[in-house]
Parts: sequence; structure tokens; C-alpha cells
Amino acid sequence: MKKEPVKVKEVPAQLRVGNFQEVVKGYSEEEALLEAARCLQCKNPVCSSGCPVGIDIKQFIYHIRQKDYKAAYFTIREKNNFPSICGRVCPAEYQCRKACVLTKKGSPFASEEAINIHFLERFVGDYGKNNKLDVKTEKEEKFSKFKVAVVGSGPAGLCCAGELARKGIKVDIFESLHKTGGVLRYGIPPFRLPWDVLDFEIDYLKKSGVNIITNFLVGKAKTIKELFSQGYSAVFLGLGAGVPSFLGIKGENLCNIYSVNEFLTRVNLMSAYKFPEFHTPVNIGKNVLVVGGGNTAMDAARVALRMQKIKGLPLNTMVIYRRTEIEMPARRLEIEHAREEGIKFEFLVQPKEFIGDQEGFVKKLICLRSKLGEPDSSGRRRPIIIEGSEFELDCDLCVIAVGLKANQILINATPELKTDKYSDVIVDPETMESSIKEVFAGGDIVGGEGTVIEAMGMAKKAARAIIDRLSKKGE
Ligand code: FAD
Ligand code: SF4
Repeated sequence: MKKEPVKVKEVPAQLRVGNFQEVVKGYSEEEALLEAARCLQCKNPVCSSGCPVGIDIKQFIYHIRQKDYKAAYFTIREKNNFPSICGRVCPAEYQCRKACVLTKKGSPFASEEAINIHFLERFVGDYGKNNKLDVKTEKEEKFSKFKVAVVGSGPAGLCCAGELARKGIKVDIFESLHKTGGVLRYGIPPFRLPWDVLDFEIDYLKKSGVNIITNFLVGKAKTIKELFSQGYSAVFLGLGAGVPSFLGIKGENLCNIYSVNEFLTRVNLMSAYKFPEFHTPVNIGKNVLVVGGGNTAMDAARVALRMQKIKGLPLNTMVIYRRTEIEMPARRLEIEHAREEGIKFEFLVQPKEFIGDQEGFVKKLICLRSKLGEPDSSGRRRPIIIEGSEFELDCDLCVIAVGLKANQILINATPELKTDKYSDVIVDPETMESSIKEVFAGGDIVGGEGTVIEAMGMAKKAARAIIDRLSKKGE
């Protein structure tokens, strides 16, 4: 008999829009066992090929079926340092689940029937966290004389630091913000990734000897050269892509038009949803527009809707996107959740011009309708403007979520560091070493905006290369 996919429990939409508590509840043991029992345990499992770090998915699901959750945890940890985090945020429908044989051939993303690998991973990750499972360290005396500087405390920096510390290498992480976690803290809202999950991983790193220095902007406070002269044997750059892109249209500098970074940082990191208890406000409006179709846009829209509810305003938040829903790069679950919560969508729409009032506050957005043409370099069909299709949308707050780029501060301070036309750091793909010897890089600063697991995959590769290099030096 065909076994139906096990649905995960969620907080109902009408209850969750008034707060920032986690929406997806995760599988119970019983549910995890039922879902694991659906796995065909294929002779030639193709799911692992869809995972950017190649987790042995079949094997960890096998361990769940045997109720050996400890073994399942260590199987995942061989490849992924933060299963509780990835189980919550990985776009599995484009990765492992899409590769699962139960996905219908030719689907643009995973079919519903595909095994819910991410929910199983979260179940196992949370088991490891709740049972304080320690990954064995592989400390070697020869490494104790080395120290490595990691710049940035996003998933790339944290993962690289963890791998190095396991070998007994001293690691200092330098983070420019006052809190650690990168996008996991300031970008992804706590209703998707609760802070206690992130804090657990960071505390674990600290306990394993990693030292974290916050409010420290490398490139200003110290250059890379100065770090080396302080005795660091290698430097890892996990700078992320923290600079927002804009639309470049008339009126974009009016008040109450935010970049997605500023909007999410104000609300998430600076707790604007608790203003005035916390000092950072956000001037939420009655008509919120979010421009974009990625995870950043979904997060901004769902945060804006919650802010409207908290402020007692009517719930009126709309996402406008220049292609159709199928081309949206956001996780399918986030689109579904946004829609359930009451967020409206307008597809095939291009912003043309913002109109403000006499005080300089945004009031309207003039848009144009578009249709889809031939695929562009991203493989997605290019939107083509329909002449004479102008229309207006009311808007007293707009969030622009149309892409993120590399931060230039450290790059400008380091002319020897070779970058490409997007200002991303160029590395040797085998070792992740940059044009400067002993300076490695990974995550969004290499290859632009990606995913958490991709950032961690690159960081792990860089850590292996650093360990190799130090190993030779230590002999
Ligand atoms: P970041 O997470 O950006 O961390 C970089 C860190 O470096 C930051 O803390 C920054 O302050 C610090 N830094 C930068 N320059 C310096 C310097 N000179 N000195 C010291 N510190 C510095 N991916 C998913 O897989 N799933 C999702 O659901 C998802 N949702 C997302 C939602 C949002 C709103 C955003 C913005 C991104 C999302 N992503 C998602 C993408 C994912 O978060 C990134 O790919 C990932 O965080 C990249 O990791 P990183 O470590 O390279 O960079
Ligand atoms: Fe096969 Fe999918 Fe199970 Fe992987 S998760 S072993 S592809 S059924």
C-alpha cells in the first residue's frame, strides 16, 4: 500500500501572524519513524547527489528506522555541522528532495511524494542537541602552536572555525556586528530559525575553544596583513554578501523605502517589533509592498505582516515579482506560509517609479505589467515589459529585496585580493585559497548569494586545506 507523506505540524496561520515564534513544529518520534519508513532505501540512492555536501541520506534514514538516532546524528554530522539549522532552512525541494526518486521526472522542484529529508534531518539534529551529543574531537598536539583568524560569523565562518577547533587549532572569529550568526541572526527571522537553535551551536563552538570577538571590522580595525603579523598562520574570509541591490528607479530615495537588509536587521537583530522596549523603530505602514521573489522577499513580507498585526493595523502586505510563481527562487514552504498568512502576490509586475508626498514619504508605486520571453543566463524566462500597461499601487512602506552583493570594505583595503566582476573573491575551487597565500574564503563572498549549506560546504573544504597546510608546517 502506498504510504502518504507525513505532514509536519505547524502553528495555524491566524495564531502565528501576531508573534515571532517558530511556525513549523517538527516531527515527533512517531512521525519521524513513519516518514522514514516511506524511504525505499534505493540500491543506488540519488538523493545524496542533490545535497551540496553529500550527506549519506539513505544511511541516516536507515538509522532512524532502527531507532538508532545517535548513529543517524553522527552520519549527518560527518558532512553537516549544523543539522538543526539546515533541517529548518535548507531549500530541500531544490536539492536532496528534488533528486529523490519519488520526485516526478522533469519537476522544477521536489514532488510532494519525495521523502521529507529536511524534516527528518531536523528531527535528528534536535535529538543530538537535546541529548548533548558531542562529536569526537581529533586534537593533535602538532596543531596546538597554530592560530587561525576567521573573518565573519555566518554559517561559513562558524563551520570553518568548528572544523579547525576539532583538530586543536586555536581559532579567533572576528565579527563586525555586535552579535554572531550572520544572516542566520540578522536576516532569517526567529519564526523560521529560533535563536536558541543558533545559540546552541555557537555556545558549542565556544566550549570547544573558539574565541569570538564581536564589533571588529577587519579591513578597518585591522588589515589582513596586520592579522598575519599578529601571529595568525592562516585567515579564512566568510564575509557573506551583505550589500543590498536597488531597483535604480525614480523616487527610490523617498522615506519609508527600505533595503531588505535594513528592514530585517531593524526588526530581527535590533528587535524593532518590541519598540519602545528596544530603541530601534520601524515605521510600518498600512500598505506594505515588498519587491522580489526570493527568501529575502518572503521573510520581509512575513515580518511586515507580523508588524502590522502587532501595531493593530489592517493586514495589507503584498509581494510584487517580475516573473511568475514558478520562477520564484524562494523556498516553496515560505511561499505557502506567506499565502496562508494572508500576504497577497502580484506576478509579472515591474516597478517603474515611486511617488511621494510633500514631506518626502512614499505614497504610491507606479508599475508596469510584463510577460515572459525566452530564458536568460539564469535559465529562467526573461520578463518583457508590456507597453502602456501602467498601473498604481498604494504604498506607505516598501522593502526592496532584489539581490545582495559583496561588501567592499575589506576587499578595498586589500588590493592584492583578486575578485571577479561582481567583487566576489576568486579562489582555487579545490582548496578555496585566494590570490593571497594562506588566505582562504568561502560562503556568499565566493560566487555570490547562495544557501546556508553551500556556504558550509565551501567552509569545510577550506578548513581541510588549512589543516593540510598546517599539518605540513607542523611536521
Ligand atoms: P553571512 O551569513 O552573510 O555572514 C557573514 C558575516 O560576516 C556577517 O555576520 C557579517 O557581519 C560579517 N562580516 C562581513 N564583513 C566583515 C568584516 N570585514 N569584518 C568582520 N566581519 C565581517 N539560505 C538558505 O539556505 N535557506 C534560507 O531559508 C535562506 N534564507 C535567507 C533569508 C535572508 C533574509 C537572507 C539574506 C539570506 C537567506 N539565505 C538562505 C542565504 C543564506 O543565509 C546565505 O547563503 C548564508 O548566510 C551565507 O553565509 P556566509 O557565512 O557566507 O555569510
Ligand atoms: Fe531513495 Fe529518496 Fe530514500 Fe534517497 S530519500 S534512498 S532517493 S527514496
